[in-house]
Amino acid sequence: MISSNPAARREAILQAAIARGLLDPENVPLAAFIDVDALAENVSTLKRAFPETVNVLHAFAAKANSIVPVLAGLRDLGLGCEVASEGELAQALAAGFEPESIVFDSPAKTVRELRKALALGVALNIDNFQEFERIQRIVEQSPSSSPLGFRINPQIGVGAIAEMSTAGSHSKFGVALEDPGNREALLAAYAGNPSLNRLHAHVGSQGCPLPLMAAGVAKIVALAQEINNHIGRQQVTTIDIGGGLPVDFQSDSALSNFSAYVDHLRETVPALLNGDFALVTEFGRSILAKFGFTAAYVEYTKVSGGQHIAITHAGANVATRTVFMPHAWPLRVTAHGPDGKEKSGNPVGQDIAGPCCFAGDMVARDRPLPLLEPGDVVALLDTGAYYASTPFTYNSIQEPPVYGATFEDDGDVSFTVLRAQQTMADLLTASGSELADPAKRQRWAGAVSGRQKF
Ligand SMILES: *Cc1c(COP(=O)(O)O)cnc(C)c1O
Repeated sequence: MISSNPAARREAILQAAIARGLLDPENVPLAAFIDVDALAENVSTLKRAFPETVNVLHAFAAKANSIVPVLAGLRDLGLGCEVASEGELAQALAAGFEPESIVFDSPAKTVRELRKALALGVALNIDNFQEFERIQRIVEQSPSSSPLGFRINPQIGVGAIAEMSTAGSHSKFGVALEDPGNREALLAAYAGNPSLNRLHAHVGSQGCPLPLMAAGVAKIVALAQEINNHIGRQQVTTIDIGGGLPVDFQSDSALSNFSAYVDHLRETVPALLNGDFALVTEFGRSILAKFGFTAAYVEYTKVSGGQHIAITHAGANVATRTVFMPHAWPLRVTAHGPDGKEKSGNPVGQDIAGPCCFAGDMVARDRPLPLLEPGDVVALLDTGAYYASTPFTYNSIQEPPVYGATFEDDGDVSFTVLRAQQTMADLLTASGSELADPAKRQRWAGAVSGRQKF
């Protein structure tokens, strides 16, 4: 029997992984898992949430999980891809996305990045008027089929996590709609450039309530209508509503609340869904977070000043945001025995510490869990997005493998490697080991610039 209960599925995945040596105290003390079938079901929920009469490209935000086989799997499920650097663009192309299903966002696009995206025909969300001037200069020389539009900061306020909110009055992203002169400048830009046919807003990630997100979308739809009225035809044909749908990190609530968001949009911005506009979405966390977990062995336990501490292999290396902003990004942790079975026993407050050499490297403080012992395993839940796929290289801890888990009809779990554990050779290369020899360093400095050695 294949359970639909997330806790039972995690336990089955963990037990099977340990039985097969995919997680191993000696060689693989840390690994991440994605529940592939549950993820696919969530993607269908996303697609079903939007009316069939509307043309929608769901562009997965690559930064949420840029592992190429993960991106390829999402492409197979019919998604597009949102990228924000040349590196993410390369990852999206390597995953097999067609340029027409890629959207390029970034507040810092270089001339080289712009040339590349424009040559491919990748859609560009233009962050500011300086970037727009650059684009105009490039397309004068080499015409491009890229759909173009401005990213707008609708300035509707910030959500619960200021660092994640992009629609406060001072955000670094997009053209601030309510600042003096900007609305007029946008109207003039669109009127003078028929190739501008989109508008984009991304109000923020996690911690933004649905009404705030819908209010941001309402402002860009109103702007699209204002632009189209001003020009006298429907030049703006596509609205990119961004991502940012919050995820429930507190419980095993089933699937993401895409349909609740669409209901809010339908109420707040009916014109968005009446078929007048094509849509782009850029969800990341809400597509993947709930369908991944990270498992780490407990290496040692101790009591310090009366506090129980379990030292594990998962800390800032894979849970960077949780460690540095514990109140904004709390994670649930479960305790398992050496065979992966969830532990029972009276809860004892324990600090769940990571392996990094700084005192604050904790994924949870005084968390009530059955008492952990060396050789046990902890699982950090809801870490399918922005965790193991976005490692932090502090202390040069090997990046963990990432496995996709699927359930066979008989309930057996099978695994595919989505990213192999980083090898020591790769780790050394990434830290410049090939340039350890001074002779090589000298040659390299000369060859790159021809300038003075630095
Ligand atoms: C980060 C980001 C997203 C994805 O945000 P989620 O919270 O993961 O859904 C989408 N669009 C842009 C422009 C982003 O910066």
